[in-house]
Amino acid sequence: MDERQTLVNRPFPHPLVVGNWKMNGSLQSVHGLLEALVKLDYPQLEIAILPPSLFTLTALMRLNGSQVSVGAQNIHPQPYGAHTGEVSAAMFSELGCRFALAGHSERRTDQNESNAEVAAKCAAILKANMTPILCVGETFDQYRNDQTEEVIESQLNALLANLTEKNLASLVVAYEPIWAIGTGKSATPDYADRVHKRIRLWLTRQLGEEVANTVCIIYGGSVNSANARDFMVQSDIGGLLVGGASLNVSEFCKILDSASTSLLRSQEERK
Ligand code: PEP
Repeated sequence: MDERQTLVNRPFPHPLVVGNWKMNGSLQSVHGLLEALVKLDYPQLEIAILPPSLFTLTALMRLNGSQVSVGAQNIHPQPYGAHTGEVSAAMFSELGCRFALAGHSERRTDQNESNAEVAAKCAAILKANMTPILCVGETFDQYRNDQTEEVIESQLNALLANLTEKNLASLVVAYEPIWAIGTGKSATPDYADRVHKRIRLWLTRQLGEEVANTVCIIYGGSVNSANARDFMVQSDIGGLLVGGASLNVSEFCKILDSASTSLLRSQEERK
């Protein structure tokens, strides 16, 4: 990647905090979570949850009128057809979903999803009028061998076969070091911010600085109430992707508190 440093302002007017529930929950526990989420009131934030697909409609109905959006953890790139067991982006969109993940490392590992498949999913999500949350990140070995930038660059380069410039500008990019997901060992905020700046630099090369600065780049990997603020005060971390901690309402609310107050503080500091 280019050696130049970029200095950017927070690109989104509101930081985005996304809760990825993965394959967790029961009807009963999901109802409990939704009862708490429907009451959230964080005007400074954009909040979304990604429930298991079976609970999507329940979540959409309960959260209707609240500030919490609902998204998909995975989609099939075709809009319909003979793909038993799959759900298309068009179907999630028709229900009212706003976001869909693409390229989460658990799917890259468990389902062998390639960079090309992930790019096709991003294109399908955009075609269905939702926002893709593209996950990129390196393994622990790649991290140790100082390969983070090249790994992420190749994950991003794969997008160019499927996405136009306008498409790229509509992505949310989630930097998720694989070694930090579900391990309790997050990246340091400073390291995450440096990787975010590299991602922004890649976007700048494709889109020019002005447009690249509008793309939201969020961090994920063992975010909790104790470290959320440290991530959110970094200059190029525009939000958080929260896995395990999003299943605990009081922990998730503390993360939202941190995200919201760190934003207010940085706005004050800029005055
Ligand atoms: C994730 O699922 O994307 C994630 C970041 O999980 P956790 O917060 O549990 O590490």
